[in-house]
Amino acid sequence: MVVPFVNLALQYSQYKTEIDEALFKVLSSGSYLGGSHVNEFENSFAEKCHAAFCVSLGNATSGLFLALKALGIGPGDEVITPAWSWISTSEVISLCGAKPVFADVDSDHYTITESEIRNKTTDKTKAVIAVHLYGQSAEVSPIKNLCGQHNLHLIEDCSQAHLSKETDSVLGTIGDVGVFSFYPTKNLGAYGDGGCAITNNKVIADKIRRFANHGGLIKDEHQIEGFNSRLGTLQAAVLNVKLKYLEGWNQRRIEIAAMYTHRLKNLDQIKLPLIRQNTTHTFHQYVIRTERRDELKNFLAHTEIQTMIHYPKALPFEPAYEYLNHSEKDFPVSAELQKTVLSLPIYPELTNEQVEYVCSMIKSFYDTRD
Ligand SMILES: *Cc1c(COP(=O)(O)O)cnc(C)c1O
Repeated sequence: MVVPFVNLALQYSQYKTEIDEALFKVLSSGSYLGGSHVNEFENSFAEKCHAAFCVSLGNATSGLFLALKALGIGPGDEVITPAWSWISTSEVISLCGAKPVFADVDSDHYTITESEIRNKTTDKTKAVIAVHLYGQSAEVSPIKNLCGQHNLHLIEDCSQAHLSKETDSVLGTIGDVGVFSFYPTKNLGAYGDGGCAITNNKVIADKIRRFANHGGLIKDEHQIEGFNSRLGTLQAAVLNVKLKYLEGWNQRRIEIAAMYTHRLKNLDQIKLPLIRQNTTHTFHQYVIRTERRDELKNFLAHTEIQTMIHYPKALPFEPAYEYLNHSEKDFPVSAELQKTVLSLPIYPELTNEQVEYVCSMIKSFYDTRD
């Protein structure tokens, strides 16, 4: 049985009629940026998240960058960001002229912690980027309290956590700004790049929109110097179709995660994902940990099961951050994660039979070789 890591073409084939219709409508309209599809998407996404404002953008990386700009982050400032994340969450800090300060993550949920942020806070700290990694909420309420005490801005990176929740709050609405990616493989993915920022603060929303549109809210207005980061109308049309199915797809991911956990829980050679209490984890990734990660990955590849490593190297150990002179002892959890994490296939179209097959192959790996 072949188990690809993702299968976006299969999802397209299931919704082809609806998506083709939406795309052709845009194609024949002759209008490919802005317009009613983009407005509709912003309104519906804001509503789904219970946020007052949604600003659609070209991608999440520019969303994080523009969020920092809108919050006034610049040279001389420090921004605390997780050592264990995708590089967007640190590169945008440097791009603003500020200094990225890495904080380690916790060994059960792999997200940035309030105590690590506290340890790294100095009088130059101006903001924190909390990443809700793999679909799991970071301990965002304690982090928000800490930010309140020290007058720090809080940006939530929800690129892997569309409609994940902490109690009843949709992630992205707890901090000052929440940023989302619609990169094709994300829980809500466009057919190319896409992203957005949500916020309850009108001033921040307007600033981000200005920055994303050459400094103006209307054409040919340039209140400030800006940038160009827009969601294409074709992408908005795709997202409008897909947004209707997002909750169902998340539910299916949660179901698959529960199947994996149920089938694999007796294997003490692997550590399974834990779900933080009072949160909804939407399982962008199902990440296990094992000492024999590379061996297991190869074994599964031979049985036609594709897996991935998110991520092969923690950010402070990337060549891009050599100048910070960090060593593994500075980030012991991240240093361990890069050697042990393995992401199993998880997406709504995955069948129960495929999940069973993955579990039985993992079990056979440990039975035959231990
Ligand atoms: C995907 C991702 C991003 C970047 O999103 P783009 O839309 O590709 O720029 C940022 N942060 C995290 C945590 C991501 O997973």
